[in-house]
Amino acid sequence: MTLGYNITMNEKNNLDTHHVKTVTVYASSSAALKPIYYDAAMRMGEILALSGKSIVYGAGGRGLMGALADGALSKDGEVRGVVPTFLQDLELTHRGLTSLKVVGDMRERKHLMLQHSDAVVTLPGGSGTYEELFEALTMKRLGQWVGPVIIVNTNRFYDRLLEFLEHSVSECFMGRSHLKMWSVVDEPEQVLEAIANADEWNSDALEYANVTSANA
Ligand code: AMP
Repeated sequence: MTLGYNITMNEKNNLDTHHVKTVTVYASSSAALKPIYYDAAMRMGEILALSGKSIVYGAGGRGLMGALADGALSKDGEVRGVVPTFLQDLELTHRGLTSLKVVGDMRERKHLMLQHSDAVVTLPGGSGTYEELFEALTMKRLGQWVGPVIIVNTNRFYDRLLEFLEHSVSECFMGRSHLKMWSVVDEPEQVLEAIANADEWNSDALEYANVTSANA
């Protein structure tokens, strides 16, 4: 089922995502993107807010981060920012968030953003977004964090990254089962469904974290 843009509070009850209360979103800080990216980020914020999810993100006031937060806040969503001291400056940090947690450095932030989240959504981004996505995937591979990871492939932005991940499996740097660690959707409207349908994952993942001839 593909969700329409105007998701209603009733529709959310048809999707089994009640176990997911907090969604961490990773997204670009760039203010120089094509409109299609901001539009999708804003819709992502609206959808998560309307479905009652609390959003945790990097607290940025610009780029896709800013669009996401603006979208969620416009629908009275709860948006919690986590920002390191050196980035907490009026220009970079969103001033209208539900809460803002200031931490010592990027590592502490990354850890905190993932630690309390039930699912991760990755919008298009650059090196900061990749680092956060790969932290989530690495922790998941090791069974240390086991929630759904949804990649929103707006404008097919992630096609080459996804191809490379498949290449990593075909060259046995990851096992076939690791392909189940993430789901890919084209539009934000498909994210709740992807969360509901994400493959089960648990701490046993540590047993097959290493690739051998048995699980390649
Ligand atoms: P990038 O994709 O390289 O633009 O980095 C975006 C990601 O890194 C976000 O998910 C943030 O957590 C973090 N980040 C990078 N730059 C900023 C910024 N100026 N303000 C807040 N967070 C940032």
